[in-house]
Amino acid sequence: MEEYVLAIDQGTTSTRLILFDHEQKIVFAAQKEIETIYPRPGWVQEDANDIYLSVISLLGQLFQTTKIDPKAIRAIGISNQRETTVMWNRKTGIPVTSAIVWQSRQTADIVKRYKDRGLEEMIHQKTGLVLDPYFSATKIRWIYENVPGVSDDPDVIFGTVDTWLVWKLSGGVSHVTDVTNASRTLLFNIHTLKWDEELCEIFEIPMTILPKITDTACEVARIDSSIYGLDCPICAIVGDQQAALFGESCFKKGDIKNTYGTGGFILLNTDKDLIISDSGLLTTVAYKIGKEVKYALEGSIFVSGSLIQWLRDGLHLFTQAKDSETLAKSVPDNGGVVIVPAFVGLGAPYWDDDCRGAIFGLTRGINRAHIARAALEAMAFQVLDLIKVMEKETGMPIRELKVDGGASVNDFLLQFQSDVAKITIERPDIREATALGAARIAGLTVGFWKMEDFIDMPKTLYHPKADPKQMDVLYDNWLKALKSAVEFTK
Ligand code: ADP
Repeated sequence: MEEYVLAIDQGTTSTRLILFDHEQKIVFAAQKEIETIYPRPGWVQEDANDIYLSVISLLGQLFQTTKIDPKAIRAIGISNQRETTVMWNRKTGIPVTSAIVWQSRQTADIVKRYKDRGLEEMIHQKTGLVLDPYFSATKIRWIYENVPGVSDDPDVIFGTVDTWLVWKLSGGVSHVTDVTNASRTLLFNIHTLKWDEELCEIFEIPMTILPKITDTACEVARIDSSIYGLDCPICAIVGDQQAALFGESCFKKGDIKNTYGTGGFILLNTDKDLIISDSGLLTTVAYKIGKEVKYALEGSIFVSGSLIQWLRDGLHLFTQAKDSETLAKSVPDNGGVVIVPAFVGLGAPYWDDDCRGAIFGLTRGINRAHIARAALEAMAFQVLDLIKVMEKETGMPIRELKVDGGASVNDFLLQFQSDVAKITIERPDIREATALGAARIAGLTVGFWKMEDFIDMPKTLYHPKADPKQMDVLYDNWLKALKSAVEFTK
């Protein structure tokens, strides 16, 4: 019987279920959208039950469409949207409130309270993160302070989305998370790889509500066999960006990937070096497999592919995201236009909550093609900003960038990224890097694959072609525009 590994890739906008065969080829893929709720400006929530039911419904589709025997699935790997916070009652299995999504800024006041107490630097040194609503700890605090009955109920427990899914899929047996997810909570000490007592005290979060921390690759639970007769182990839990790093085969020190999705996430493998950044980058666990712990430096860009979405749905400049490429290629240059896509402030390395977007350099001769081109260029400039900071922090020159995500199909974007950063861009032919990462780790755990199976995958390369001096001028203009946008909102 042919055997498979199944990846559950639970993302912010959708859940994807992808089945890989031994050649790492996709034999089944399906996706279900998740409804996002915006109860107030800046608040972003999802229904945790919806998230779980999306997985169940996709499993139903898998067995109906493929007629694969559930026993042919050797292992399951889960990759998930990180930081999103779920709290539920361990006796009833019912969430106490909506899941607070990583993007939600609803804990800004709580964060301010902690900043006023002067705790930023200590928290940064212990966790490798910055004190920001992005991460889970202040989201838990918010639930304690705003949802009646939670703070005095000892049966309410916490989890990120991986924890919630494993708990549900195991029939309420396993309350676990892995080191990559734990490292995004602000409660995890990145040096000891354990929950940190002092941080839990500071955020007034009882350690008893926290899941047990496991390796990224290990048998964390068995699926409840009442779920489609799927009596197989869950053998990997990994945060989505770390999963993409693994799926892109960034195993060595200096290997780096960017995901051009709704936002942009750039991760640099720093191997055993735990570098606490003083330039606005985050330090995170890349994975723990066996005794081996690898770290990464991370930069998050809030607006990447969603800039193209805005041109399409907000300004109606074109009807499909891929039109941006045709338009950009139809003009010889950006006509002097620079777009700063700071719709919700600026993420790494600037962390400016107040900055807002801007378009510079408009003249009467500018048309939608120049705007489309400037938008794709802005996506590349933001990545270059982070590459430069990473080079400075590590002292390592970056010569090659691996890419994935929805917008990585855009050849103009990738060629421009190569030109402006003066590096090689490598796009693997397999587009589902995140799911592949989770599947690979699960497959390693059960001996379905070996690390050697993950190198030399088919790919497309982009090499710098443009005049480097001209590229420097464009990048300088970007930096000027960025500075002006920051000034404008001061
Ligand atoms: P998510 O972050 O939800 O996983 P995806 O990785 O699927 O997102 O990427 C979706 C984003 O990619 C959208 O914001 C979309 O505008 C952008 N996108 C999709 N195709 C293209 C394209 N051909 N050119 C530029 N951007 C694109």
